[in-house]
Amino acid sequence: CGIVGYIGQVDAKEILLKGLEKLEYRGYDSAGIAVMNEAGVHVFKEVGRIANLRGAVDESVEATAGIGHTRWATHGVPNQSNAHPHQSASGRFTLVHNGVIENYHLLQQEYLQNVTMKSDTDTEVIVQLVEHFANEGLSTDEAFRKTLSLLHGSYALGLLDEQDAETIYVAKNKSPLLVGVGDTFNVIASDAMAMLQVTDQFVELHDEEVVIVKAASVSIEKLDGTKVERAPYTAQLDM
Ligand code: GLU
Repeated sequence: CGIVGYIGQVDAKEILLKGLEKLEYRGYDSAGIAVMNEAGVHVFKEVGRIANLRGAVDESVEATAGIGHTRWATHGVPNQSNAHPHQSASGRFTLVHNGVIENYHLLQQEYLQNVTMKSDTDTEVIVQLVEHFANEGLSTDEAFRKTLSLLHGSYALGLLDEQDAETIYVAKNKSPLLVGVGDTFNVIASDAMAMLQVTDQFVELHDEEVVIVKAASVSIEKLDGTKVERAPYTAQLDM
């Protein structure tokens, strides 16, 4: 159960896979990554070790943005369709989630009666809700906030919108998540250790904040849209 993400100038696949390997100590039953370029989003996910996932990743897909996940199943058995990342009905939105959404079933009944779910997870409701509200005309930022305002439970989230290859949308509540800051890139991680390979500068996130992460900027806002300024700290690894 861990999350990583990268957006920058170089290929994301190896950075994401290495990051997930650093999170293996937390325990997991399956793993996946999604990488995004101008042509769209590619998802690779497998049950079992990161080594299995490595074998499934198509090396020819080049992308300078992506998100990754190790899953510790809480809702839905450990299998490939329940592994993260999860995608919305049209495939436009792609999401990784750590945590538990307590009211997922109610939200599904209230908003997603007409959506055929692709997994048995609580997580899929989140990504389908984002698409539902985007289809009603909200921007991705607005649809993400609206969705977050409805969730009860714990989450660390990384969201991709294939119509905007320049952005990773991030939020957390009661689950750990950090943003790592670089010169020409930015990253996200459940634990700084996962991304010490590329930076030691991290920004702590608080519950009920939304972070818009781009290669050259990190902008933190509260759910109501108020801007938050927070300086990075230097992470140190005890060897
Ligand atoms: N509740 C989600 C699931 O079962 C996320 C589990 C996790 O934190 O890895 O898929």
